[in-house]
Amino acid sequence: MAKLQPVRGTHDLIGDDARAHLAIAGTAREVAERYGFGPMATPIFEFTEVFKRTLGDTSDIVTKEMYTFEDKGGDSLTLRPEGTAGVARAFISGGLQNELPLKCFYHGPMFRHERPQKGRQRQFHQFGVELIGVAEPSADVEVIAMAADILDALGVLSETTLELNTLGDAPSKERYRAALVEYFSDLSDKLSDDSRDRLVRNPLRILDSKDAGDRALIADAPDFDDYMTEEAAAFFAAVQDGLDTVGVAYTRNPHIVRGLDYYSHTAFEFTTEALGAQGTVLAGGRYDGLIETMGGPKTAGVGWAAGIERLAMMTGEAPALPRAITLIGLGDAGEREALRLSSELRHAGLTVELIYKGGLKRGLKRADRIHAAAAVLIGDDELARGAATVRDLDSGEQVDVAITDLKDHLAAHR
Ligand code: ATP
Ligand code: MG
Repeated sequence: MAKLQPVRGTHDLIGDDARAHLAIAGTAREVAERYGFGPMATPIFEFTEVFKRTLGDTSDIVTKEMYTFEDKGGDSLTLRPEGTAGVARAFISGGLQNELPLKCFYHGPMFRHERPQKGRQRQFHQFGVELIGVAEPSADVEVIAMAADILDALGVLSETTLELNTLGDAPSKERYRAALVEYFSDLSDKLSDDSRDRLVRNPLRILDSKDAGDRALIADAPDFDDYMTEEAAAFFAAVQDGLDTVGVAYTRNPHIVRGLDYYSHTAFEFTTEALGAQGTVLAGGRYDGLIETMGGPKTAGVGWAAGIERLAMMTGEAPALPRAITLIGLGDAGEREALRLSSELRHAGLTVELIYKGGLKRGLKRADRIHAAAAVLIGDDELARGAATVRDLDSGEQVDVAITDLKDHLAAHR
């Protein structure tokens, strides 16, 4: 039983790691709000059916990766592996059809039982957005542009490539699927086991295979563009046009497939060379059939999710905080005055580290460790004069400052 270790594939976020994480989510939120998106938080577990129906019985997530358990009431529940299903469920159960377009973002932990490696955990975090109820290509353009703006605000856009594809509409997909089945059936003895299985269950996903043998066969597979209906081609052209208009660069990658039936039209990923094998930092697409599949009214949707841990590996540490002022009270009266001052200075916008006990030496040691800008010493002598000793911890210079002037004296450190 439980050794006191984190579960394999999970991580504690401590100190700078936790800060980097919050900074990424905060930046993403600011940008999303500028696009008129608002927050949505759904539970981290749902009835298993929610994910089975949305992700489909053939997806990797449903077949291999879900944390599913029976609760004490006998219901089958699953820890959410991704965010869209919960948002779609909330849309239906909350009766939000009259709130369209629904523009929301979410942030939180996701759970997938996969083989842990760099950039791949069993509990990881995503920031994601959904734009529900808009069938126009400008919605696709907008969520993609938002993704680019977020990556830019995080300083990593230039290290990523936007890979763009279209899955067309249902008739395009049907025709293309038939062409793929015909092409790969002749080669089925050369396909990997996984892809031979996909040939029966979900042929489009063969295009997504990472197997080297498969990849060679995929290179000569039929080209989707030859099977696209005029409407689907026009939709894709409008998305590309819109991206050009807002100045978002992309490359076409016909192998980006979200292999589920209700995905249509736009599919995209922001990928990077900076992270090795786990190079997709943000992925999304249009899912016009999803809400209907779940039993709701036919409703268009487009969205994406970004992996925060992968982004954090690219951004490194969060922006520096303002340096602290250390308050050291000596003796009972000094400690009381330090406590009072800590409150006053914080209310004035300063970052204050109060030394609880241990005197001058311990206080200065702590100040050094947290790289404080200044130390304020208050002992009996100082109190008698209504003053404090302020030591600049960079220059070592020490001055006497009237307690009433402290706020102004330290204002530069806000
Ligand atoms: P991958 O091909 O890497 O398995 P995916 O297609 O399963 O990705 P999505 O379901 O599209 O990923 O999730 C969106 C993003 O969430 C990914 O691009 C990635 O940044 C992040 N992500 C997905 N799974 C994990 C994981 N196990 N650990 C860390 N981040 C993850
Ligand atoms: Mg995966």
